[in-house]
Amino acid sequence: MSTFQELGLNEDLINAITDLGFTKPSEVQEKAIPVLLEEERDLVALAQTGTGKTAAFGFPMLQKIDINSRTTQGLILSPTRELCLQITNELKNYGKYCKGLNVTAIYGGASITEQAKQVKKGAQIIVATPGRMKDMISRKLVDISKIQYSVLDEADEMLNMGFYEDITDILSHTPMDKSTWLFSATMPREVASIAKKFMYDPIEITVGNKNESTSNVSHEYYLVNGRDRYLALKRLADANPDIFSVIFCRTKRDTQRVAEKLVEDGYSAGALHGDLSQNQRDLVMKSFRNKQIQMLVATDVAARGIDVDDVTHVINYQLPDETETYTHRSGRTGRAGKTGVSMVIVAKSEVRKIKSIERIIKKQFEKKDIPSGIEICEVQLMSLANKVHNTEVNHEIDKYLNSINDLFKDTNKEELIKKFFSVEFTRFFNYYKNSKDLRVSESGSSDRGGKSSGTDTRYFINVGRKDGYDWMSLKDFLKEVLELGRDDVFKVDVKDSFSFFNTEKENEEKVLAFFTDFKYNGRFVNVEVSENKGRSGGGRRDRKRSGGRRRDDKPRGERRSRRSENSENKNDRRSRRSDSPKPRRSKSTSDRPRRSRRK
Ligand code: AMP
Repeated sequence: MSTFQELGLNEDLINAITDLGFTKPSEVQEKAIPVLLEEERDLVALAQTGTGKTAAFGFPMLQKIDINSRTTQGLILSPTRELCLQITNELKNYGKYCKGLNVTAIYGGASITEQAKQVKKGAQIIVATPGRMKDMISRKLVDISKIQYSVLDEADEMLNMGFYEDITDILSHTPMDKSTWLFSATMPREVASIAKKFMYDPIEITVGNKNESTSNVSHEYYLVNGRDRYLALKRLADANPDIFSVIFCRTKRDTQRVAEKLVEDGYSAGALHGDLSQNQRDLVMKSFRNKQIQMLVATDVAARGIDVDDVTHVINYQLPDETETYTHRSGRTGRAGKTGVSMVIVAKSEVRKIKSIERIIKKQFEKKDIPSGIEICEVQLMSLANKVHNTEVNHEIDKYLNSINDLFKDTNKEELIKKFFSVEFTRFFNYYKNSKDLRVSESGSSDRGGKSSGTDTRYFINVGRKDGYDWMSLKDFLKEVLELGRDDVFKVDVKDSFSFFNTEKENEEKVLAFFTDFKYNGRFVNVEVSENKGRSGGGRRDRKRSGGRRRDDKPRGERRSRRSENSENKNDRRSRRSDSPKPRRSKSTSDRPRRSRRK
């Protein structure tokens, strides 16, 4: 293992490194820095974020450019504004003793004139996102015709985001004899082809294996019924009291919805996705960095620039479409030498995806069970006990001690401890005491015996195949109008002129209320609770129950009276719900286990 001095770095950089507290070079730095300092060569480096790759290209670039010149000599392209700002910051830190150094960030969503002004002052290094860079080139606001070093950072992400054309265009304005350094976490075909097209005989370095995830991240998966995803997420959070996590969803809508639900349920959570304004995104990121937000729910695109070193858990609320995206997600934890856990919540149909991810990351997942309610209560209790044990006494309370002692003069130590811990424990215990088991076995049946958990409601709806629906389009339609998530409508069974579907019982009121007077294409869409709880052959059995008559043949008047029957039945349903195994959702949050904000 070399020291930074042995890698050949000059005194200005060594002094900055000492200030930053870096004690030894990381693997990618050890491999890249000497080569880049000694030779004018192209380089392809396969390295994850968090491995110290910014310094691996940053130190050599800072040492090799001429700081006395005001010509732009280095160009770094990165996929997102966040990453662009982060690299700029890092370079400024690394070059704090390089007198006269000017590093400028160029990215969309901010004043182009201001950025042009910064460049004009004589930026030796420009860090840019491709879109804004291309724009500035076409307006002749930057001159990159004399650069000697170009870096393509997170090349796979830039290509994923559709920047191929922009990159090609930008590079066509740079000299042929520059050196190009490409950094990428994964090496899909597209990246290999860009390396082939724009680079000459590059040196290849790999940190770990290609596409392999960092060694200090462990991978776990939790098998649940798709519709229990959210409950599973909450349990994972509750079972890890000090969690500081990024939760990945596939769509902006799911991201927003999950974050909102978490906040509603008392967690310190925030959403990060592309439908938010830049200002909103900056605020969320600031809160996350300051640890005011404990759970950041994000889309893959929005999370690309996230560089927070202490993330303890990455939770894949849904698996990504592209297997390689998983590597990026899990790379958000286990950074800067720390350990991390990447958790995946999967439905049975997705288990095979786990196998293909294992092949790519060359690591085994551990199959784990979603903790039971009582396990969570235990974890929370012991975590609190440890916190109390390790708490330093605040002597500001001394002046109140007499009154407190008076209050407890007849309480012995054991009783006092029990009372003290019950304050916290009871909240969790009340919430979880009758909670359902979310475990599902891989063999097929649910660990609840494969039966309906008794927490779903099955509905009849008077639209079917004749109206142009199949199960998928009906499911989409229902999700859309009811504003429910992808797993919230299930067991959709489409017949000719009517259909059935299920939701969690907790959505029942919402569903029935929505369809009270809902017209679609000029006709009333009627939804009623079906007595048939099952799935297969549901249509036929239901017809028998309704006297062999097709339900959609009923005259509208009769339908209306059935609806009023339903509204009476609602009271029944409510009383049934109150003894359902799930904790009742009440308007007051006092009976939910709320999390205290991290300081
Ligand atoms: P990067 O992979 O460039 O995103 O770096 C991840 C984090 O590691 C950043 O916060 C760096 O400041 C930090 N870092 C970079 N090099 C080292 C090193 N040699 N020792 C300790 N931390 C480092």
